[in-house]
Amino acid sequence: MNVEAARRTFASVPQATEHFDVLIVGAGISGIGSAYHLTTKMPGTSFVILETQETFGGTWLTHKYPGIRSDSDLHTFGYSFKPWVGPPIATAAEIRAYMGEVIAENDLAKHIRYKHRILKANWSSEENLWTIEAEKTDSGEKVVISANFLWMCQGYYRHSEGYTPEWEGMKDFKGRIVHPQVWPDDLVLEGKQVVVIGSGATAATLIPNIADQCADVTMLQRSPTYFRLGRNAIELAEQLRQLQVKEEWIHEIVRRKILFEQDTFTKRCISEPEQVKTELLGQISAVLGPDYDIATHFTPSYRPWRQRIAFVPDADLFHGIKSGKASVVTDEIDRFTETGILLKSGQSLEADIIVTATGFNLCILGDIAFAIDGKPLDFADTVTYRGMMFTGVPNMAWVFGYFRASWTLRTDLVADFVCRLLTHMKTKGVKKVVPALRPEDHNMPLLSWIDPENFNPNYLMRDMHLLPKRGDKPEWQHSQDYWAEKDQFPAIDLDDKAFVYS
Ligand SMILES: Cc1cc2nc3c(=O)[nH]c(=O)nc-3n(C[C@H](O)[C@H](O)[C@H](O)COP(=O)(O)OP(=O)(O)OC[C@H]3O[C@@H](n4cnc5c(N)ncnc54)[C@H](O)[C@@H]3O)c2cc1C
Repeated sequence: MNVEAARRTFASVPQATEHFDVLIVGAGISGIGSAYHLTTKMPGTSFVILETQETFGGTWLTHKYPGIRSDSDLHTFGYSFKPWVGPPIATAAEIRAYMGEVIAENDLAKHIRYKHRILKANWSSEENLWTIEAEKTDSGEKVVISANFLWMCQGYYRHSEGYTPEWEGMKDFKGRIVHPQVWPDDLVLEGKQVVVIGSGATAATLIPNIADQCADVTMLQRSPTYFRLGRNAIELAEQLRQLQVKEEWIHEIVRRKILFEQDTFTKRCISEPEQVKTELLGQISAVLGPDYDIATHFTPSYRPWRQRIAFVPDADLFHGIKSGKASVVTDEIDRFTETGILLKSGQSLEADIIVTATGFNLCILGDIAFAIDGKPLDFADTVTYRGMMFTGVPNMAWVFGYFRASWTLRTDLVADFVCRLLTHMKTKGVKKVVPALRPEDHNMPLLSWIDPENFNPNYLMRDMHLLPKRGDKPEWQHSQDYWAEKDQFPAIDLDDKAFVYS
């Protein structure tokens, strides 16, 4: 929508038929976790969760490709408040079951409205509230709700479609092209030659899980990715269980152990990247043997941790390669042909099915058209307050988790902050809080949302221009550092001049 069109659509904001203190967008792991924190820390707060899909789960509902599983451990991807009692790497079904228990145990179902896609949100300075326009996805009926505070738990990518680059000749290909995000129910793999384009966590999960069914499966990658290999078990958790230690304790102890080890690992990636690289490649070489060409297929050109490192439980991908059921080709696509893919090297890959495990379309705020007093809001014009609020945008919190640690660790931290902020506003008797640059911030250089030197996955690089700006002080940065934020967030001074109340 262009700016003029958006202005016209916001010219008259319809009257809300219902009002809530808080409106949570999305019933993924962030939305459900945030609702838990709100009900336990601020009982009596009225709230609603609006969710486009037909049930809860978000990522773990959308993705249905064979083998779909977490790539971080569930002790830290699970919530701080609910012990995870299974093996650390979990399937989507197991994660949804866990979320279902959280909903049932905390009586959250009555707050969730499924099949409600939010289309617009307008802040009124006169009334000090957001008016949300949503559409019921089954009937098309419009719903208008107002809320004092918007809690954005919409995730970071568009659920309706994945990212597929345009390659020449795609229309000529006579087989089927499938994106893993919209895996078709009727896809028959038996006896088929399959090429999976991509080298990230999705490709690494999918390939060992379909290798037995296909005639052959090839992972086609432009460049290699780092992987970590390990057993899908945590010895300490197993020992503590044998000793009949309470699950609450095991969860907390194992979380601390994992977080301590991750912190050490992240620091080592910066202080001794070559050593870490040698160790990661050594794990692969131990499975594939000395004759496998690790240099070409599994040695990335960047230092470890510039992109997320996928965990491969029980080395299943590499056992698949070792057994000959799966293979890896590192090359660039020249074009699709009728029968497969022609590579820049001149080699051809024959295929019946091509799976494009090529990633996501970044979707910063749920494809919602935002406005403040009818004026369209462009988030790229704002500066982030610690990656959870935006300058000039009143009464809104945004949940964007960690890349290098489990996403949900940040959901918990942001939720603690939001509940503290809402309580503070109540105590002060104010209706509005808006982050604003302080006098000392006005000459601060404004930079891209995240430092590409630090972290640079393609889906972020493609759409960085849509994201809020970053300053050069911690308050105005979206840090990817759980270990710093776990101490900084609880200590945020809510009377700092960065928060303007009225
Ligand atoms: C395949 C896959 C595996 C992953 N594995 C891991 C992992 O192991 N560890 C990790 O830390 N991270 C992982 N991630 C990142 C992952 O997205 C997050 O960890 C987490 O699940 C995100 O949860 P969320 O609730 O914030 O967002 P989502 O899961 O994206 O859920 C957001 C919800 O908001 C809804 N929504 C969005 N816009 C609107 C709107 N306008 N109106 C109404 N509803 C709306 C969506 O329908 C969706 O249900 C993975 C991502 C993918 C895609």
